[in-house]
This record gives sequence, C-alpha cells and structure tokens, in this order.
Amino acid sequence: MAEIVLDKVSKKYPDGALAVSEVDITIADGEFIILVGPSGCGKSTTLNMVAGLEDISSGELRIDGDRVNEKAPKDRDIAMVFQSYALYPHLSVRENMAFPLRLAKVDDATVKAKVEEAAEILDLTGHLDRRPANLSGGQRQRVAMGRAIVRNPKAFLMDEPLSNLDAKLRGQMRTSVSKIQKQLGTTTLYVTHDQTEAMTLGDRVVVLRGGYVQQIGAPQFLYDNPANLFVAGFIGSPS
Ligand code: ADP
Ligand code: MG
Repeated sequence: MAEIVLDKVSKKYPDGALAVSEVDITIADGEFIILVGPSGCGKSTTLNMVAGLEDISSGELRIDGDRVNEKAPKDRDIAMVFQSYALYPHLSVRENMAFPLRLAKVDDATVKAKVEEAAEILDLTGHLDRRPANLSGGQRQRVAMGRAIVRNPKAFLMDEPLSNLDAKLRGQMRTSVSKIQKQLGTTTLYVTHDQTEAMTLGDRVVVLRGGYVQQIGAPQFLYDNPANLFVAGFIGSPS
C-alpha cells in the first residue's frame, strides 16, 4: 500500500493549453479517492501522470515520500484497471488474470496461488477455465480487476472502468468495486464523470474543472458545503 502525493502537478501538452494546473492531492495509504468532473477537465491526464504514462510538466509526484516523476511506469508498482474489453478473448480467465505475472516471469506455482487467491476475492473461482466470451459483463469486469490484483500493487488506478456497462450492471459493479477495495485496502484513484459513482464509491472526492481542483472532501461534506456553484451543480444534480 502507498501514500500518493501530487504536489502542484501541472501538465501542458506540446500543442495545447494547460490541461492540468497545479493540482495538489494527498491520497492516504489505503484511501479510495474519486476524481470527478466533466469531459475534458483533465481527469485522464492526471491519472496517466500518476501511472507514468504521461510526463509531468511541473510539480512533483511522490509515492511513500519518494519523488517518482522520472520513474518508468513498471517501476512505480501501480496497477491500472482497464475496461473489461481489454481482456484477451483467446485466453482463459485464469490466463487473462495470470498475464502480468507471466510477463514478469513469475514461477508457475506462485502464478497459480496468486490467481486463485484473486479469484476467491472476486467471486470467480468457478469460472477460471472459461473464456471471456462465456462470462457475464460483470464477471468480465471482475477479471479485468483480477489482472490488477494479482500483482499486489501499491495502488490501483481506474479510468472510468464501468462506463461501457449498462445501468443495472454498473450499479452491481459499484458495489463490487467498493467491497473489493475495502477488503484489499489498496490505495485507489478512481476517475469518473458520473455523479452517482462520485457520491457513493470513495472516501473522498476531488472535483476538477478545466484542469483546476475546485474542492476536495468526503462526499457528504461536498454535498453540504460546496465551495462554489460549480461544485454545487455538479454534485447536486442527479445523473
Ligand atoms: P478528461 O479525462 O477529464 O475527459 P483529459 O485529461 O483527457 O480529460 O483531457 C484534458 C485536456 O487535455 C483536454 O482539453 C484535452 O483535449 C487535452 N488533451 C488530452 N490528451 C491530449 C494529448 N495527447 N495531446 C494534446 N491535448 C490533449
Ligand atoms: Mg478521460
């Protein structure tokens, strides 16, 4: 597990304006933080900088107190949870979940143990030998999470992982994601543009607008004490 600190982190794409402006966020060890805001406000850019998939233009990113701005993604010990359609259709659930461990040349016995442990947490034990095509949407999404869990990362990053699911399934998966995060206690940064997810999933919510942090706080606190009209409108309006 890890504490993640974004210290005045900014991003300017070579050909564009400032996408993220001096963002300050401290994510406590084990905390579940939701980054929310309308399309284009800089959520993915922020997440990708934490993952190391985008360079940081200015400011500092620290994991457990160490500056990691220059660290390669694979050396940050952080796992991205992708949408379920990123599964390999020709591989079994077991091998989909084992994939990152195979890449890291982990031995067979450890792979088996890690995959079965993750399957237990994700309620996928009976489905390990199936192909993704023979699973429900919710099961597929859990396999995508399993791929992140097997690595025992310091933190999870999720970029709108439920956005391609229908409303009913999205509701079920919200419950699963929150249960799994609590059970594992892994520091999580979760991006969404969905107000319901923002208000129900995390410990704290960061509201972003045009690359600027508007407010950070527990969902109920933001609801009761919005810092400005934008936060009030965004948090208050039903999705
Ligand atoms: P969100 O995830 O909140 O929808 P993004 O982080 O994707 O927002 O984008 C933030 C801003 O940065 C937008 O104005 C977007 O057009 C711009 N942007 C995103 N990616 C790139 C890129 N690779 N090159 C140039 N501009 C980009
Ligand atoms: Mg995005």
